[in-house]
Amino acid sequence: SVQKETLGFQTEVKQLLHLMIHSLYSNKEIFLRELISNASDAADKLRFEGLAHPELFEDDPELRIRITFDKDARTITLCDNGIGMSRDEVIANIGTIAKSGTKAFFEQLSGDAKKDANLIGQFGVGFYSAFIVADTVTLTTRRAGQPASQGVRWTSKGEGEYTLETVERAQRGTEIVLHLKEGEDELLNDWTLKRIVRTYSDHISIPIEMKKGNSYGEDGEVIVSDEFEAVNEASALWTRSKNEITEEQYKEFYKHVAHDFSDPLAWSHARVEGRQEYTELLYIPSRAPFDLWDRERKQGVKLYVRRVFIMEDSHKLMPQYLRFVRGVIDSNDLPLNVSREILQASKDIDAIRSGCVKKVLGLLEDLAENDKTKYADFWQEFGQVLKEGVGEDFANKERIAKLLRFVSTVSESDVPEISLSDYIGRMKDGQDKIYYITADTLSAARNSPHLEVFKKKGVEVLLLTDRVDEWVVGSLTEFDGKKLQSVAKGALDLGALEDEADKAAQKQVEEAAKPVVELVQKALGERVEAVRATARLTDSPACLVVGEHDMSAHLERLLKQAGQ
Ligand code: ADP
Ligand code: MG
Repeated sequence: SVQKETLGFQTEVKQLLHLMIHSLYSNKEIFLRELISNASDAADKLRFEGLAHPELFEDDPELRIRITFDKDARTITLCDNGIGMSRDEVIANIGTIAKSGTKAFFEQLSGDAKKDANLIGQFGVGFYSAFIVADTVTLTTRRAGQPASQGVRWTSKGEGEYTLETVERAQRGTEIVLHLKEGEDELLNDWTLKRIVRTYSDHISIPIEMKKGNSYGEDGEVIVSDEFEAVNEASALWTRSKNEITEEQYKEFYKHVAHDFSDPLAWSHARVEGRQEYTELLYIPSRAPFDLWDRERKQGVKLYVRRVFIMEDSHKLMPQYLRFVRGVIDSNDLPLNVSREILQASKDIDAIRSGCVKKVLGLLEDLAENDKTKYADFWQEFGQVLKEGVGEDFANKERIAKLLRFVSTVSESDVPEISLSDYIGRMKDGQDKIYYITADTLSAARNSPHLEVFKKKGVEVLLLTDRVDEWVVGSLTEFDGKKLQSVAKGALDLGALEDEADKAAQKQVEEAAKPVVELVQKALGERVEAVRATARLTDSPACLVVGEHDMSAHLERLLKQAGQ
């Protein structure tokens, strides 16, 4: 072998490896799912590159994954004939973590094994999960199109370092040999491995082959032949009809496409016909990924054209306010050579996207209606993101507005559970507006003097404390024919909520306070626009009000914090 070198793992990799081994042991079987998932991605990539460069298939066009084991050597081997990796790619992909959200992930680690196990799951387990069961992992690979002399061998014990060497490799793709740790021998069993494959990876669209069993040994063990057979169904899951797919298969497929560890919250699967023909299988995750707020994020929805993977896109296939959606869209009509540039300006993509957005909104409406607990979980994780849609998606503004949930002055907890329709259903006789207040925190909102008159009259006020709320009320000026009105803006017009007695009281206060108002006005001078006496404050002596068309005090603070 040539050019053998030993390289150190990035510090983060070491930390991740350590955590993985110690906190995911009770889920150790998932290593196989992760490695199969990577092999399947590698097949997708080869198929895509092969569209423009058919020579990459060499003389081996049938893409597949093979799993074998050797009881005496105590190894399990996975072999794929996908895209493979060059030496540089091995270093970039297997020696470092270059994912978006990495920083946020490491900041949240607590040292509590159980909590951290959840975090790792959320972050993505991936290749390193091999070290849950293996004490040595050897990966040998050759990138499609490279000569046999450009094979690469990567070996590591999963501690601080790995070795790399250039080797001769006739076969394209990647082979991974796991040398099992002491005590993991139960995995060296035909029946066990086939069970794990069927449980976690049945949805994989290329064959996962293992040697055919042809007889039983004396101890009841399966004796295998040299012939391979597919263990999985080997058809793209989304092309199967709904009643042939089990809940478990939907869930496992989600984990594969989303690189997630936990079950999805809900999904929508449909074949759409019409101007554009496509199949969508879209999922709402149960937890937000680490890079939800990261502009560099790459993950999104995967686009296939007639079963061929084309690209994963985080910007074009779904609007920003649905950036948490994962899954696949498989088009029957788009050209196979669709590129990012074409995607950018394609009317066909616009049609597919708008259809898919409607599916996702429909899925959310269904949850909101029929599974309040799940919808509350969704809102907790993604509510702030969905809110952006009110300003972003004009066509679906009403539907999105219906999905919003708030805390209000009638809430008994701090959990946002109140919809705008709930609010309207509780409006007082004569009330024609939806009142809200924006503030940094719920307690600041609840203690605002602006609420005093509303408390007195028993009128509900929405308490808006998310950063995105200013954007929401800026875009959503009315809902169901009712104007949204800030309680802290202008000379608040309570309309029919105000009775004769209120008007008389106001008049009286204005008369009585005239000398004080003049004094205060003089003292504050240019710093205020006006000083007014009001009968509306019941507990506080004074409060600040901004003009009807001025920026709210809260927004002004937010902009200042943002350095604007
Ligand atoms: P993820 O799959 O979420 O990207 P992994 O840790 O599972 O993360 O894999 C890291 C990267 O290593 C992959 O993105 C891919 O580039 C590369 N890789 C892993 N396994 C293979 C394989 N069998 N063939 C080609 N590339 C692979
Ligand atoms: Mg992976």
